[in-house]
Amino acid sequence: MIKSKILLLGSIALDTIQTSHGSRKNLLGGSATYAAISSSKFIKPNIIGIIGTDFSGPHKKILVDSCDSLEDLTSKEGPTFRWGGKYFDNGDERETLFTELGVFDKFNPSISEVNKEPDYLFLANISPDLQLSVLNQLNGKPVVILDTMNLWIDIAKDKLLQVLRKTEILLINETELVELTEINDFHKASKKIQSLGPKVVVVKHGSKGSVCYTGSTSFSLGVVPNLIVKDPTGAGDSFGGGLVSALAEGHSLKEALIRGTVMASFCIEDFGVNSLLDSKKEEIISRSLFLSKSLKF
Ligand code: AMP
Repeated sequence: MIKSKILLLGSIALDTIQTSHGSRKNLLGGSATYAAISSSKFIKPNIIGIIGTDFSGPHKKILVDSCDSLEDLTSKEGPTFRWGGKYFDNGDERETLFTELGVFDKFNPSISEVNKEPDYLFLANISPDLQLSVLNQLNGKPVVILDTMNLWIDIAKDKLLQVLRKTEILLINETELVELTEINDFHKASKKIQSLGPKVVVVKHGSKGSVCYTGSTSFSLGVVPNLIVKDPTGAGDSFGGGLVSALAEGHSLKEALIRGTVMASFCIEDFGVNSLLDSKKEEIISRSLFLSKSLKF
């Protein structure tokens, strides 16, 4: 089996979460963290990110165990990035309560030589400035997969469009897609994105599944049914981590979409990264087989 090198950029965070199942403070989170743990079940990625002095030993150990190298993980005096979110009862919508950049403010990494020629670059949710800075430091031509969020569409759209031009695969949820393109029809909006750079657009519809637009065709996938959703945080990042790991192993886009969805299904079953960490190969395979029956062309 092909195993390519994955480089991952995103936030490493301490999250405070409220859902209908309860509240938790300072959980290990962040887009890079979820994506790395998800990918690591198949391929351990290298990670670019920053943590502060309040980042605990057990949290660091999770990153050590999930990544191939932490060469580009910076530690700095100051607080780790913090995010607070509250979910509405439908589970698909949430409100950001606070975002405290901490040591991520002014973070401008210089990428080490070992990370300059990845085969796959996953730009998980983080500022487009940082995404561009990493893209511009690479020597090789990796397959670029991009995720983002409404905040960056609101405050850094021009920079985000620059990143899009260098992106092959965009992962985006339905509300972000409409906001970015100003088009209400998902099919037309995805076509518009394809004219801005990415050949492939994966639209995430939360509990309704996802649709992948590629060339002039599209296919859709459902979700793993009958799960108790305790905390949806990180589902999108786990989806991205799973998807990139499948592509890096040489699997098709369809298989990558299935793996992404399965990894997201583990993520939402408990608060923080717990259930993702505990996911086992046999259960991943059995959920994937079940889910493949919901593929529609
Ligand atoms: P998801 O639920 O997949 O959209 O990702 C949730 C994760 O994104 C949380 O663990 C947060 O720490 C992280 N996050 C929230 N806001 C931002 C932001 N502005 N930039 C980077 N990461 C963020």
